[in-house]
Amino acid sequence: MGEYKIVVTRKIPDESLDIMKKYGELYIWPEEEIAMPYERLKEEVCNAHALYTNVGDKIDRELLESAPHLKVISTMAVGFDNIDMEYARERGIAVGHTPSVLNETTADLAFTLLMAAGRRIVEGADYIKEEKWKSWGPMLLTGQDIYGARLGIIGMGRIGEGVARRALGFNMDVVYHNRSQKPHIEEEIGVTYCELTELLQTSDFIVLLAPGSEETRHMIGTEQFQLMKKSAVFINVSRGTNVDEQALYKALKEGGIWAAGLDVFEEEPISASHPLLSLPNVTAVPHIGSASIATRKKMAMMAAENLVAGIKGEKLPFEVQA
Ligand code: NAP
Repeated sequence: MGEYKIVVTRKIPDESLDIMKKYGELYIWPEEEIAMPYERLKEEVCNAHALYTNVGDKIDRELLESAPHLKVISTMAVGFDNIDMEYARERGIAVGHTPSVLNETTADLAFTLLMAAGRRIVEGADYIKEEKWKSWGPMLLTGQDIYGARLGIIGMGRIGEGVARRALGFNMDVVYHNRSQKPHIEEEIGVTYCELTELLQTSDFIVLLAPGSEETRHMIGTEQFQLMKKSAVFINVSRGTNVDEQALYKALKEGGIWAAGLDVFEEEPISASHPLLSLPNVTAVPHIGSASIATRKKMAMMAAENLVAGIKGEKLPFEVQA
């Protein structure tokens, strides 16, 4: 087995490296927070059989063409919009990901953003630190009620269900929109299907959780923001490309919607000088949806197990179904 070359594009937990070590020679990019440059990755994959990657790497056709021996790509993420799936399939390269294990952790973050944006938590914390707090004010830093409000979830899948369950604990009225209705989820957790227009027009909070793809690119833009309530709080934990950020900026700046909570951005990392970050009604965090210690360790192991199965020519335990 030792003849295989495995490229790992980030420093990952040792336990997951130990699993892969037995099956080949590892090349590990030594940084945890600096992405492996595209050209460097291209050089490294030219004689590789397996690639361990993540959302920050662009695995496009050009990169895959420079990797003629590649048998498996394993991403430490559930989303795979950064991988040219069509070409990988054409080449017979197996692609693995890490669904389900991160559902609850990501739902926690989505709900945290919902509450933080709705109740102006970051703005309030800054208010104190900047010595702006002079006295208690009747309407000072007032926000939107969460308890009893209507939540619209766009993309009611594994993570969406987790967000819905949390919302029901806050007595929220939960509606959802998918391309297909899911009667079993409606029965099981008590949510209602809604056409997108109605969801946008009637929801107090909107959480976007549809996957990133050509189809969902800019699915939320000017037209959709115009349909939302002026008091709406918009949360994106899916992919930045699903939202037209210029339209979002305009809606937030001009009072078209009330606030936004964002974990993902069209360009990552987002620049600190990006206009969106200048707005007080934006709560932004750096793509940390699944970032709990326990979940990230589990994801790293799952991705290693996918990779090993691919090297052995076995069916991946968590193969991308696309
Ligand atoms: P999932 O179970 O596949 O759920 C996605 C849902 O989106 C499905 O129910 C799907 O239903 C719906 N959908 C797909 N296309 C749609 C469209 N055009 N319009 C409306 N709904 C659509 O995926 P998941 O595990 O919940 O993850 C969802 C996404 O969250 C991932 O793809 C990833 O991009 C993102 N994510 C982000 C983080 C983070 O750190 N921020 C962490 C994990 C995941 P239909 O097929 O019926 O439409």
